[in-house]
Amino acid sequence: MTQVYFIGAGPGDPELITLKGKRILEQADVVIYAGSLVNPEVLKFCKEGIDIYNSAQMNLDEVLAVTKKAVQEGKTVARVHTGDPAIYGAIQEQMDALKPEGIEYEVIPGVSSFLATAAALKQEYTLPGISQTVIITRLEGRTPMPKKEQLAHLASHQATMCIFLSVQMLDSVIENLTLGGYSIDTPVAIVVRASWPDQKILRGTLGTIGEIVKKEGVLRQAMIVVGRVLDADYELSKLYDRGFSHMFRDAKPTPAEE
Ligand code: SAH
Repeated sequence: MTQVYFIGAGPGDPELITLKGKRILEQADVVIYAGSLVNPEVLKFCKEGIDIYNSAQMNLDEVLAVTKKAVQEGKTVARVHTGDPAIYGAIQEQMDALKPEGIEYEVIPGVSSFLATAAALKQEYTLPGISQTVIITRLEGRTPMPKKEQLAHLASHQATMCIFLSVQMLDSVIENLTLGGYSIDTPVAIVVRASWPDQKILRGTLGTIGEIVKKEGVLRQAMIVVGRVLDADYELSKLYDRGFSHMFRDAKPTPAEE
């Protein structure tokens, strides 16, 4: 029987957790949540009086010790991560440590912040004729970047880019993107705390966004989106094109042909 669940809590708004994630929180006996980013409001779904741990103050061994003890006691553990746990969630090392112990676990996906950011911007990332690719990346911090994934290298594709964990190094982000071939007038949007009540949107270009952000002061929990989709003059999608048939719909003649 599965006793450990890794849950994506979503980007902030407690209504953006999945029904399944909510149901497991309602049943959990022990909750370990990433307190630096997960909205504590989601913990309101939990039963009264259960053990709740904030992993921001714990190391991996402590998280694992709490998890194993709870499992031995026959309890259900919810390990709650922000957004979706597959993106910069550091869940692999936790899952891999449970495997040799014979502890079964399940992962419940969540709404990643790069998607909540698109919703806040009311923006599609994949516009026909502009970009059909989304690059999820970050600037190198304490976690080193593989050589082929340097920001300047990725920028050469001119795809839509969602840059996590990097707003505090914005100057370096701009420098690398420009080095990689994005022109100075490429649009940039920064969404701070997407889906939270204090969500903020800053827009500019690679040339102007540095000054705009400086005026705002220190930003935390922000997503940087770069790419021509942000100001695109795009082609209409084929999916809803009258003349384009697919598995669920036959082609219709355009009005001129009718
Ligand atoms: N697993 C998470 C990402 C964790 S890394 C996810 O899927 O969203 C933390 C980074 O995510 C932050 O530095 C920031 O870049 C981004 N982030 C998290 N929540 C955010 C939010 N509500 N709005 C904008 N960016 C957010």
